[in-house]
Amino acid sequence: MTVSTLSSIPQVEKILQQAFLSPYIERLSRPVVTDIVREQVQTYKKKHLSDPEGVPFSVEQLYHYIEQGCWVMNQQRLQRVVNGTGVIVHTNLGRSPLDAEIWQSVGEVNTHYNNLEIDLHTGKRGKRKGMLQQLMQHLVKGEDTLVVNNNASSIYLMLHELAKGKEVIVSRGEQIQIGGGFRIPDILALSGAKLVEVGTTNITTAKDYLDAVTENTAMVLIVHTSNFKIRGFTESADIKELARDLPDHVVLAVDQGSGTTTEDMPDEPTVASYIQAGADIVCFSGDKILGGPQAGLVTGKQPLIRQLEKNPMMRAFRPSRIVYSLLEEQVVRKLNQLESGRGVAESKRTIGEAELEQRACLLAEGFGDQLRVVNSELTVGGGSLPDQSDPSWSIEIVTDNGRSKRSAEKMLKIMRSWPLPVIGVIKHDRVQLNLATIEESEIPYLRSQLAEVLL
Ligand SMILES: *Cc1c(COP(=O)(O)O)cnc(C)c1O
Repeated sequence: MTVSTLSSIPQVEKILQQAFLSPYIERLSRPVVTDIVREQVQTYKKKHLSDPEGVPFSVEQLYHYIEQGCWVMNQQRLQRVVNGTGVIVHTNLGRSPLDAEIWQSVGEVNTHYNNLEIDLHTGKRGKRKGMLQQLMQHLVKGEDTLVVNNNASSIYLMLHELAKGKEVIVSRGEQIQIGGGFRIPDILALSGAKLVEVGTTNITTAKDYLDAVTENTAMVLIVHTSNFKIRGFTESADIKELARDLPDHVVLAVDQGSGTTTEDMPDEPTVASYIQAGADIVCFSGDKILGGPQAGLVTGKQPLIRQLEKNPMMRAFRPSRIVYSLLEEQVVRKLNQLESGRGVAESKRTIGEAELEQRACLLAEGFGDQLRVVNSELTVGGGSLPDQSDPSWSIEIVTDNGRSKRSAEKMLKIMRSWPLPVIGVIKHDRVQLNLATIEESEIPYLRSQLAEVLL
C-alpha cells in the first residue's frame, strides 16, 4: 500500500461517525461496532498489501465490508422471527412465545420492588413461590409444587435428593435423549443414582418394575417418551397398578415433559392424570404446552416437595421473580379459562383448517404460479405429542431456478436475511411456509417481502 492510499483510510473515530453506522451502534453498542471497524480495516489493509493490483483500495469498499461485519453481528442478536415451520413449540425458535397481555401485566411487578421473599401478612421472610402452590393444586392436582429453571433441573433435583447412592428403575423403552445431549441415563449418573433397567424397548409391564425392586431401590422413574414414539406392539406399565403395588420406600416419579393440563390432546396424559393415578411426584416444563416461561415444575406429595426444596441445589436452580410472576399470571388466566392463558400450543392448534387455508390463499393472492397453496401438517413439537399432527396449509415458493435443494436453501437464506427474519422449511426441494405458525398480522409483511424477491 502506498503512503497515499494508507493515509486515505479514515481514522476509526471518523468512520464511527458515518451515518450508516448509527443504527448499528444503537443495536450492537459502540465498543462492539468499534471492534468490527478495526477488524475490517486490518483485514482490508492486509488483503490490499498482499495484492495491490488485484485488490485496489477504495473507501466505499471498506465501508461495505464494515457494514457487512455489522450485519453479521446483528444476526446474532436475539430478535423476533417469523415461524413458518408449522412446529408450534419449536425449541430453536424459543419454544412457546408468551402471551403479550401476560407479558404486559407482569411489567409493573418486575420494574419495581416486590414481595418476592417477604410475607406481607406477617412481615417476616416469606417463601419465593407466591401462590403457585394453590394455583397448581387446581391446575394439576398436586398438593404442593416447586419451580426450577427448566425440567432438566427438575429431574436432576428429584434424583439427587431422593435417589442418590440408591437404585432408580427405568424402562428400557424410556432411556431417551431429549434435544441437545440431554440423556436420562447421563443425568441419572450425574445425580449419583444407580440406573436399573427393566423391560424391553417396546414392552415394560408393572410386574417388570415390581420384580426389580430391592431394599436399595429409591425410585421408579417413568419418562414420557416425548420426542419419538414406538409404533405397533407396545405396552407401558399401568401407573395405578404400580402405585398400588410399589412398597412404601419407593417413590413413583414421572417426567411428564410437556405440561399438558387439558384433556383435549389425545395420547398425551395430563399431569393431573398421573397424580390421580397415584404418582408421588410429576415434573414437566413450563414453556411447552403450558405456554409459560422457561421453567421446570415438580408437583405432587407435599412432604416430598418440601424435601426437594431443602436440597442445596435448589439455591442454584431457583428461578427469578420474572419466571414466578409470569407463571402466576399464566395459571390464573388458564384457570379462569381466558384465551390469553391457554398457551400457544392450544390456541394455535384450534385455529381450524379452513381458516388456515384462507390465510394461505390470502398470502398467495396475486403471485400467480410463484406461490402455490398446498396441504401440509402442523405439529406441536418441542418434545410434545410425538405422534400427532393436524392438517394445515402452507404456501410453496416456486422460484425461477426450478426445483432443487440448492435453490431452496438459497431462498431460505434470503428469508433469514430479511429485516424481520423468516424461518421456512424445505419440502420436496421447495421452500414452504406453514400458516399454522404464522401470525395473521405477519401476512402483509410476508407478501411485501416475497413480492420483492419474486415479482
Ligand atoms: C422437554 C423434556 C425435558 C427437558 O425439559 P427442559 O425444560 O427443556 O429442561 C425432559 N423430559 C421430557 C420428557 C421432556 O419432554
